[in-house]
Amino acid sequence: MTTNITARLDRKVAFITGAASGIGKRIAEVYAAAGAAIAVADLNPQGAEAAAAALRASGAKAIGIGVDVTDEAGVDAAVKRTVAELGGLDVLVSNAGIQIVAPLEEFRFADWKKLLAVHLDGGFLTARAAFRQMITSKRGGAIIFMGSVHSKEASLLKAPYVTAKHGLEGLAKVIAKEGAAHGVRANVICPGFVRTPLVDKQIPEQAKALNISEADVIKKVMLKDTVDGEFTTLDDVAQVALLFAAFPTHALTGQSLVVSHGWFMQ
Ligand code: NAD
Repeated sequence: MTTNITARLDRKVAFITGAASGIGKRIAEVYAAAGAAIAVADLNPQGAEAAAAALRASGAKAIGIGVDVTDEAGVDAAVKRTVAELGGLDVLVSNAGIQIVAPLEEFRFADWKKLLAVHLDGGFLTARAAFRQMITSKRGGAIIFMGSVHSKEASLLKAPYVTAKHGLEGLAKVIAKEGAAHGVRANVICPGFVRTPLVDKQIPEQAKALNISEADVIKKVMLKDTVDGEFTTLDDVAQVALLFAAFPTHALTGQSLVVSHGWFMQ
């Protein structure tokens, strides 16, 4: 895959959660190619180390950190380690996420709480730790949340996911206001469906829940409203993550950007 790097992140340090897989992993590769040092933070410690090792093999500075974004002390320690080993923290991409689909009437309370914890507690804890560091260092920085078209729109079977992704927009707006005095910007990226393990798992689950074929889940549910019938790509999302990380002023702070091949237009 070729990487068209237009913006630079030289001498910047990025902490990216959920970066052992899918979207986070590609953002880590694109940031590294743009010159950043990377902390690959993920629940899966072996995956985090493997992704960091691949970045180091390509010439980047990178460390892998096993961390659960819902663990307050763990998140604080992971950010501390990043600052100690990579020399600071300039960009947070709060990207770790899970998906659980079920009709509302069958949704287990435990699953509701689990999903909100990863997306919202995880968003808060990683942002707070990064924000504190960005203030203390007086370097400012960029805090980027991985939202979704589901930050704007609803779909069947996704009550907690849609709720959490809408919530991240509120958190980003507060950080944009509180962060301005400290040079901290906050943004949300809102992708359409991207072929990652998170989406591949949903296809058979939705087929079963909606009683349709897997091909119809892709065509008639996931890509139905796109302008070109195409999945959003890892690079589509990573290039927007690069834009938000590298943008030099507060002009875009507090904004979310939908990256969905026209599924949702605002
Ligand atoms: P993925 O399953 O490929 O990767 C998610 C990563 O998050 C995994 O490596 C996993 O180990 C990690 N993770 C899960 N729980 C964690 C926790 N508690 N602490 C730390 N790490 C944890 O998924 P993806 O598709 O790359 O999704 C990344 C983000 O993008 C998620 O927030 C997801 O909601 C969002 N998103 C995905 C799509 C899509 O279509 N794939 C669309 C819109 C938004």
